Amino acid sequence: MVTVSDDLPDGVERRQFDGTDRLATRGEPVYGEPTDGEWRAWDPTRSKLGAMLDLGMDTGLEGGETVLYLGAASGTTVSHVADFAGPTYAVEFAARPARDLLEAAESRPRLFPLLKDARKPDTYAHVVESNVDVLVQDVATRGQARVALENARFLADDGRLLLAVKARSEDVTRDPDAVFEDVQAALEDGYELLETQRLEAYHTDHLGIVARPR
Ligand code: SAM
Repeated sequence: MVTVSDDLPDGVERRQFDGTDRLATRGEPVYGEPTDGEWRAWDPTRSKLGAMLDLGMDTGLEGGETVLYLGAASGTTVSHVADFAGPTYAVEFAARPARDLLEAAESRPRLFPLLKDARKPDTYAHVVESNVDVLVQDVATRGQARVALENARFLADDGRLLLAVKARSEDVTRDPDAVFEDVQAALEDGYELLETQRLEAYHTDHLGIVARPR
């Protein structure tokens, strides 16, 4: 059973689309999601952060935060984030999805796409403001803990890491639980873990993690 939380950030609501209650933000549609012209549905099956919110994880998001988002792809999730957050820096290193990301940013003045490698934070340190409130990470590559640790430098002391870990990106042959244990142990070097939850209802072999910098 999917647990439903209503502790949502300002600017994120549950609204009816086609007779179903869905998470929604206010903005131009980006990926063919249902819209009523003002609000658009946020599909948790297409978004790990959407799944974390829908499953009731305590993300600490209130709305209006400064966000650094790693692994923005074509902008599915980060466009929703930019609908309710403050300045939202969206890092993506693949040129093809980044083109769609640029399009999503056209109607979103607070969304700043950066064609950069999240493993090389020095290359965007001059653009991203320091002390961001939230670091969202969904890179789905090997070394997910290392990326989160290397980018902790951008986070305010009381900021939050909202991390989606994909087990198969670390090692397709290993038991996902063992992978998640290793990732959590590695994160302890720079973060205090506040909450973890499997995102199984929406994403196979993914773990959602909420943490704060040490
Ligand atoms: N977060 C996206 C969403 O919900 O709309 C989906 C992200 S997809 C699972 C992972 C993305 O991370 C891919 O687009 C990939 O190119 C990007 N990525 C992987 N490693 C990266 C890196 N080192 N730097 C920047 N982007 C990276």
